[in-house]
Amino acid sequence: TFITIEGPDGSGKTSVIQALLPKLEKALNQKIIATREPGGSRIAEEIRELILNPENTEMDVRTEALLYAAGRRQHLIEKVIPALTDGKIVICDRFVDSSLAYQGVARGIGVEQVAAINQFATENISPNVTLYLDIEAATGLERIHKNKSNRQYDRLDQENLTFHETVRSAYLELVENNQERMILIDASQDLEKVVQDCYAILLKRLAR
Ligand code: C5P
Ligand code: MG
Repeated sequence: TFITIEGPDGSGKTSVIQALLPKLEKALNQKIIATREPGGSRIAEEIRELILNPENTEMDVRTEALLYAAGRRQHLIEKVIPALTDGKIVICDRFVDSSLAYQGVARGIGVEQVAAINQFATENISPNVTLYLDIEAATGLERIHKNKSNRQYDRLDQENLTFHETVRSAYLELVENNQERMILIDASQDLEKVVQDCYAILLKRLAR
């Protein structure tokens, strides 16, 4: 089973996965593979560095979209597909939906074009379920600034509120158009409550 966690910056994806993992492993009595994008394998982490390096301000938006897709493919081939083939549950922090929201909408390339390069990259491998952690852009940014010392500064941290508002509305539209796969979680709640909501939904989904 392939599970992805999506959401704007500051929605808490990383913290939620960290807390969720041991609970799910215990309930299901099996080891779960948690991984992340961009990155998740040696080559893909090198691509991540390239994309997120704050010095790379001249990077073209299509170059950026292609690099995300390239890193995604390498990570899929090296890590995700082998684990799924072994029958494992994989939880991935970000996947194609991130590219549709950030590069497709917020960077203005267009969802169809970004979807097309990602179809090439993934050969249409798609998550079974996606938890979308919904947060208002302003609240997300506030969390990021509060949390600064624990986070690595990246190029996206230079973006303004409008950029992050666009990302969020793009995600909301994706949820609207993919209701079978994507489930909205209110990520403005306390971390424990968010984790509890994610846990309940995943247990239900994994049981069917
Ligand atoms: O989720 P994480 O914090 O690791 O993402 C790293 C950075 O990459 C964030 O600033 C995020 O906004 C950005 N990003 C992006 N486009 C993607 C995925 C992530 O701009 N497709
Ligand atoms: Mg980040």
